[in-house]
Order: sequence, then structure tokens, then C-alpha cells
Amino acid sequence: MRKFLTVLLILAVPFLVVGCGNKKSNSKYTIIASNFPCYDFARAVTKDIDDVDVQMLLTPGGEMHDFEPTPQDIINIKNSDIFIYVGGESDSWIEDILNDIDPSKTKIIKIMDYVDLIDEEELDVLEDEEEHEDEEEEEYDEHIWTSPVNAIKIISRLKEEIKEMDKDNSDKYEENANIYISELESIDKEFREIVSSAKRKEIVVGDRFPFIYFAKEYGLSYTAAFKGCSDQSEASAKTISALVDKVKKDNIPVVIKIELSNGNIANTINEETGAKVLEFNSAHNISQKEFDKGTTYVDIMKKNIEVIKEALN
Ligand SMILES: [Zn+2]
Repeated sequence: MRKFLTVLLILAVPFLVVGCGNKKSNSKYTIIASNFPCYDFARAVTKDIDDVDVQMLLTPGGEMHDFEPTPQDIINIKNSDIFIYVGGESDSWIEDILNDIDPSKTKIIKIMDYVDLIDEEELDVLEDEEEHEDEEEEEYDEHIWTSPVNAIKIISRLKEEIKEMDKDNSDKYEENANIYISELESIDKEFREIVSSAKRKEIVVGDRFPFIYFAKEYGLSYTAAFKGCSDQSEASAKTISALVDKVKKDNIPVVIKIELSNGNIANTINEETGAKVLEFNSAHNISQKEFDKGTTYVDIMKKNIEVIKEALN
């Protein structure tokens, strides 16, 4: 009887595992990524490899800057083979658990180590929160992935770590990464061509501004309401009127709002000036619907190409 029960359990286990969310039941390796860009890049490199299960920590549609891990998330990170995170202000909770992660089991990848960083001090937005006096430390803007050039750098390095994790599929990872990188290179080329032939080289953002890496890469100037990770969503009358004046003075055709935003500021500017409101997506996260459709960082950037074309002409 006991033997029979054991057999029954062995038979039942794969079904139980399959029943728990979308985890692949037979994958040998697990990669956990903190936000959407980290998830997307790892998913692209490991495409069509059943041995690897890539999971995003952030729930689709969730706000990256408010993320709090559950105890189960922390257990999953400790059991993963690779854990990828950005490494900025929003990931400070990760620094607290790093000591508990066994480095011989889990490779920890901080993507801010892979690119040149921009000091937050460089960011010039209309509503800058007061710095506390004790915050003398240098803080870097964490939205590195908004530049496709940085995305290429991150994937090139991430690919090497994934090859190291699973040498058997090394060639396939190399191939996947090269395909994704060449798509990103053509996106980069398109952005450059648009900017070089554009009527204007400035954008107005009636929202948070997580695009410093993007703007710097393509030589765009900007007027924006808040910092990229600000929790403010309502602007002062002074900020609104500065944005309205900028749109009127420079004849700006498009006012930008970001994804998952209420668009209130951009809509007010639209009412005052007639400038069209368009969404420029900073890819912090995607909605559940987009997630289910398999939307990629490349898909998001292709839409952004159309927006920037209209905004600069
Ligand atoms: Zn942000």
C-alpha cells in the first residue's frame, strides 16, 4: 500500500508543479528578473530553450518604484540560478538581502554595472524634490534601459553569464542574443535618422521623466514635470504654466505622457495649447494584457519610434 501511495505521489508531482502559475515544470535553470527590461532581455537570450525558466518579479501592471518583495519572492531569488536587477534607488531592498544569497548557487547581476551612469544631479526637471541635507552621496538615475544602446550593452554582457550558467546551450544563446541585438541596432539607427532630419530636437514631457539616457544618447533637449522615479503625479500651477509656455513658444506638436500614467498634466497642456498627447513608453513594466500577448522591449521601442517622429516634426 505504501509503495502504491509513493507511486501515486510521484505521478502526481509533475501535475502539482504545472498547476502553480506559469512555471515550466521541467526547466533545469531559473532566472529571476526584477523588472520588465531585465525580464525581456533574459527571455530574448533564452528564447526556445526549455531548460531555462525566466520569471519577472514585478507583477504586470505593477508600479516598479513601489515594489515590495513577498517572503516567497525572497525564497525564489535564493533558489534561482541567476538573479538580475537594475541596482538603483528602487532596488534598495535588494541590497539588504544580498548577504543572504549564496553566490556559489545564485549569480547576481546588477545591470547598472554594465553601462555608463548619469548622475541624477544632471537631470533638470521643473519639480525637483528637495534633497535631504544628509543625502550627500552621489545618486545615479536608474532608468538606463530607456536607451536602446544601453539595452545592447546589457544583453551582450548578460548573454555571457547565461552561457556560463548553461554551457550546453551556449551556441543557441549566442545566436538568440545576436538576433535581438541586430533588431536593437536597427531601432537605434532609426532613432538617429529621425533626430538628424527632424525639424526640432526637443521634447515636452507632461509627466515623470525617466528618459535622461534616451535624450542624451540622441542629443534631445527636454522640458519635463518630474524625475523618472518621482511619486508625484500632480503638478503645481507654476509647472503647468511653464510647460504650456514652452509648447506655445516653440510650437511643440506633441506633449508626451508615459505608460501607466493618468495623463492629467499632458491633458491639461493639450486643453491649453492643442498639442497632441502621445504616450512614449519607458518600459518600466507592461500591462497584464501586453504580458499575455508576449510584448517585447523591441515592440515598445518600435511604437516609440512613431511617437518621436511625430513629436520632433
Ligand atoms: Zn522610474
